[in-house]
Amino acid sequence: MTDSKKVKIDADVCTGCSICIDECPTGALEMENGVSVLARPGDCTLCGNCEDVCPVSAITIE
Ligand code: SF4
Ligand code: SF4
Repeated sequence: MTDSKKVKIDADVCTGCSICIDECPTGALEMENGVSVLARPGDCTLCGNCEDVCPVSAITIE
């Protein structure tokens, strides 16, 4: 296993505001059951936008 970085979204913290989905330049995120999920991990460039814009800090890149 490689320890590649990955966007992690805490479903317990996410309020479903969808700001991160609007701000993701590659459309990698999607709303699912009221929370944001990394629906297309292959499209994520790890740009960090979603982490920066989330008002409740539900997103971390780890
Ligand atoms: S790190 Fe960038 S490309 Fe990846 S999900 Fe977040 S906003 Fe989208
Ligand atoms: S910006 Fe944060 S709170 Fe809003 S949908 Fe994305 S992860 Fe959830």
